[in-house]
Amino acid sequence: MNHFQYRNGELSCEEVPLARIADEVGTPTYVYSRATMERHFHAFDGAFAGTPHVTCFAMKANSNLEVLRLFAALGSGADIVSGGELYRARKAGVPADKIVYSGVGKTEDEIAYALSEGILMFNVESEDELRAIDRVAARVGKRAPISIRVNPDVDPKTHPYIATGLKKSKFGVAYGEARRVYRVARGLTHLDVVGLDCHIGSQLTEVDPFLAAAKRLRALLAELAADGHRIRYLDLGGGLGIPYKDEEPPHPSEYAARLLKELGDLGLMLVFEPGRVIVGNAGVLLTRVLYNKRGEAKRFIICDGAMNDLIRPSLYKSYHEVRAIREALVSAPRSVADLVGPVCESGDFLAQDRELPEFAAGDLIAMMSAGAYGFVMSSNYNARPRPAEVLVSGASYEIVRTRETFEDLIRGEVK
Ligand SMILES: *Cc1c(COP(=O)(O)O)cnc(C)c1O
Repeated sequence: MNHFQYRNGELSCEEVPLARIADEVGTPTYVYSRATMERHFHAFDGAFAGTPHVTCFAMKANSNLEVLRLFAALGSGADIVSGGELYRARKAGVPADKIVYSGVGKTEDEIAYALSEGILMFNVESEDELRAIDRVAARVGKRAPISIRVNPDVDPKTHPYIATGLKKSKFGVAYGEARRVYRVARGLTHLDVVGLDCHIGSQLTEVDPFLAAAKRLRALLAELAADGHRIRYLDLGGGLGIPYKDEEPPHPSEYAARLLKELGDLGLMLVFEPGRVIVGNAGVLLTRVLYNKRGEAKRFIICDGAMNDLIRPSLYKSYHEVRAIREALVSAPRSVADLVGPVCESGDFLAQDRELPEFAAGDLIAMMSAGAYGFVMSSNYNARPRPAEVLVSGASYEIVRTRETFEDLIRGEVK
């Protein structure tokens, strides 16, 4: 459930007509609904109420400062994957002791920065990284809390680019190697071995792969206990999917109930790293139609949003619903068309071979479900300033990131 609905014939975000935002802020613009973000956070976090846990919002999905502030105010921590994300999280007031740090390529500078902030734990993805963290911790006179990200080798049945828990994946330590790597960790004097971690992929639409991973982690925990490790945190990653089209992912309450049945008796502090399920359907990319063009074999609708603004369709062939802002167009006749942007690439499309109404130049379109992996993946390709970001709260909105200017494009290129 989200707060993008037709009101008085116009698609609105909460009580604000999207056309008003387009007129006042311009297009393309990302528009987020505060009520939807709050609702989705509570649906997820509340599903684990009564169980010791910390929800660490995976901020690579949406790292806007105001969005992070909103989640921090609800008690969220952050799952980070870079020093830049740590900087953003801290700027937004996310407490350091609710930050977990994932990723296969942490640099020594990033490790030192995270140690100086005092994060909850490093999710370590290789033996080399373990030694690097120990080395940096020794240098700065600290002990680093770590968990090891184990690759449980389960198939999440998702797009290959977002499957991360298979044997062939670059992520995590192989399941069969984990026990040995934990022994290595214990032998390193500047590490505190506090957790066990996994993250098997993104946009999962079934609970079963999560349960398969949980079962394997449970077996490993018993081995680690037998080896004398005292694991306190069990981090189950993120990955719960959302409906983009006709998917029917489990509700967080079902995900929680089934996971807790498997792991609830362990007495561990559970850590979750949800990203997409919290923000995906809480945002849209608002774009305006520029031209209609009938090619010899195809109809094209050319709008002012492009692959540099929202790359998911080009990168993963992802489906985003194309919703007309004028409700009258919803029931209008449709024919097959591509919705494309101005970027000079044939791969620049927001929707391909889609049944779409006849949009007129100037019509507005909302690319739905763009709140996760939208703005964060945007670029300046074709020297296009990145879009503005707007956060709607009830009957009002604020610009939470201004549209980039031409001056922004050349900043840092000194001459
Ligand atoms: C991307 C990522 C997440 C979030 O995944 P979602 O599918 O957005 O929930 C969580 N943890 C790690 C380690 C990730 O890389």
